[in-house]
Amino acid sequence: MLLEAQNVAKAFGNFWAVGGADLAVAEGEIVGLIGPNGAGKSTFFNCLAGDTLPTSGRILFNGVDVTHASSEAHARLGIGRTFQVPTTFEDMSVLDNVMVGAFLRHPHRNDAREHARRIVEMSGLRPDQPGRSLGTPGRKRLGIARVLATEPRLLLLDESLAGLTPGELREAIALVRRIHESGVTIVIVEHIMEVIMTLTRRVLVFNQGRVIASGTPEQVVRDAAVIEAYLGRGAQRHSRERKNL
Ligand code: ADP
Ligand code: MG
Repeated sequence: MLLEAQNVAKAFGNFWAVGGADLAVAEGEIVGLIGPNGAGKSTFFNCLAGDTLPTSGRILFNGVDVTHASSEAHARLGIGRTFQVPTTFEDMSVLDNVMVGAFLRHPHRNDAREHARRIVEMSGLRPDQPGRSLGTPGRKRLGIARVLATEPRLLLLDESLAGLTPGELREAIALVRRIHESGVTIVIVEHIMEVIMTLTRRVLVFNQGRVIASGTPEQVVRDAAVIEAYLGRGAQRHSRERKNL
């Protein structure tokens, strides 16, 4: 297993955002992680990427215990993640933004620039465009490009494809495919079921900090507990999330 999260939990005060979750991912897999808003998906990613310390549980990456390692150590070992709300360096070009990631493995400026340029090209962004001129889709794409520049073995994508038009979505799915085909193992959090159906063969469903179902995408959308988790939350969310599920 490339990644093994065992009984990972995270409490904020006496509220358990993640209440003991297991996830094992083999090298080369692409696994989906779905669940209603507030289910604990991003907090779980924070634990996996070293952005927050789990309250309990254990995380192994490639056999190494990374439970207490810093986010920088995670990046060095090859765990990369995007953020649901990406940070963009507004006054820097797309290329310079991506170089920030490239410096992790290419300390010399020219090497970093060369590496970043290849990643920008693959991502379909314009290298000279200023960060501040990017819309949400561009920022998400830039977030993916920056983490790719760190050369991850495992990539955690947190709603990186949300808010795209159908055309942009097709391109973004193709980009994730290319990343996967280049040998990167992926765990993807996404609400859009089309994305999950298209990209993954295995899905975990989170609800209230726990894994309530897992299986193929086709299996989980028929699972009674999953339907209840999405639909048992009031009429307003009902229609929106049902459409996505
Ligand atoms: P998801 O990504 O599935 O939408 P999150 O992991 O963002 O869910 O959030 C899970 C729960 O934990 C939510 O109720 C959220 O409000 C809470 N939460 C997340 N981060 C914090 C924090 N830093 N402090 C307190 N509560 C938090
Ligand atoms: Mg989230």
